[in-house]
Amino acid sequence: MSESSNWKNCLIYIRDRLPEQAFQTWFDGIKVTNVTEQEITLQVPNQFHYEWIESKYRNLLNDAINKFYNKSLIVNYSIIVSNKNTSTIPKFEHQDKPLPQNFRKKSQLNSRYTFYNFIEGKSNQFAKATAISVSKSPGKTPYNPLLIYSSPGLGKTHLIQAVGNYAISTNPNYRILYITSERFMLDFITSIQRNKSSDFIKNYRNIDMLLIDDVHFFQKKEQTQEQFFHLFNDLLQKGKQIVLTCDKHPNELIDIKDRLISRFQSGLIVDIQSPDLETRIAILMKKADDENLEIPYEVTEFLAANITSDIRTMEGALVKLLAIASLGKKDISISLARDVLKDILDENAMSNITIDQIINVICQFQGMKEKDVISKKRTKDIAVSRQIIMYFSRKLTNLSLSVIGSKIGGRDHSTVIHSYNLINSKREKDINFNKFLDKIEKKLI
Ligand code: ADP
Ligand code: MG
Repeated sequence: MSESSNWKNCLIYIRDRLPEQAFQTWFDGIKVTNVTEQEITLQVPNQFHYEWIESKYRNLLNDAINKFYNKSLIVNYSIIVSNKNTSTIPKFEHQDKPLPQNFRKKSQLNSRYTFYNFIEGKSNQFAKATAISVSKSPGKTPYNPLLIYSSPGLGKTHLIQAVGNYAISTNPNYRILYITSERFMLDFITSIQRNKSSDFIKNYRNIDMLLIDDVHFFQKKEQTQEQFFHLFNDLLQKGKQIVLTCDKHPNELIDIKDRLISRFQSGLIVDIQSPDLETRIAILMKKADDENLEIPYEVTEFLAANITSDIRTMEGALVKLLAIASLGKKDISISLARDVLKDILDENAMSNITIDQIINVICQFQGMKEKDVISKKRTKDIAVSRQIIMYFSRKLTNLSLSVIGSKIGGRDHSTVIHSYNLINSKREKDINFNKFLDKIEKKLI
């Protein structure tokens, strides 16, 4: 099968699984510019576009690629600058594959996250100020480690990467590593697979600054915590700067060893709150300005006033608005913004589904008790319901496989993948089963 028909099939697959409007906004017209053994490059209109796809549709895109290219590929994006020119965006921070050999030489920072474009307001002032001091004198302030926490979409990744970008701009020889906790764990697992776990931490020791994103991900991962604990102590002893982010105050973390939690708390902890209206407006205006976009002020205010949940969602609304306006050659107006908002709120509702809701709905459909489904019982009916729950949890939430497994009575990640594949292929082959799942899915989203 030729490359282009592989991609066409991917698009058909995606179209079948998304509301038409969402498909047209985000996927229609996206071209593949390059495919290698390991990577695929997609051409998108702007940076927002790729971030939106990555944050909302990554699983779906991976599924499509797996299916039609018969393997998983790292997805890269390039932006259309003019008809002839494209600029390649650095790889997104999340990849489901081991990093290339030379990753340690690179910082993995995304240069777009700077202090300059991090808008300051009451909600984030203190966090920004401490982040700036740390990046000016790494390892030399009392803020070591610096831990920044907030709920999702409020700027943790932006801020932690800004620390690295600033430090590198003032001292290019500085060895900085930005890494997500998920990536750290995957690297550790890879090292175990290769029987090299004893070398694992050595590879991380040779750095001047460690920026580690989303440490709540370490919950329940005991071996990874152990490795991280040693790295942490080693770097701190040498006076190296560590910055961490987390989705809650370390006191509220569960299933993380006490000694690690007390390390997290040994420097300074700062939080980022939800921004007020003026800050939200300022953020949108800055985004529009950075991208050279003209948006009427009233529309900016309308979006900022109506999307209060988080900044990522608000930016997403802006991108979507622009995409729809240019696609349909319409003016950017409040009325158009209102339509977009409705879609965004719907899409968001979809990604906000919790496993508990999924369990609840499926138990209702199957006439079962929730406690049976999460128990160890193995009767056939219960086992099937469990598989359907795992299937929808993977399909409709962004939770990791191991989190899904643990919510459903402590199953491991391979059980979740297995269940997903099983139900997925049954759904494709069996019309009645598909109808049944459609009903459940309608109820869920
Ligand atoms: P988190 O890591 O907390 O989930 P991110 O750092 O990914 O959140 O932020 C989500 C989006 O919002 C990013 O595009 C980021 O650039 C933007 N953002 C967050 N806070 C600000 C801010 N104060 N000024 C400008 N952009 C911001
Ligand atoms: Mg983040």
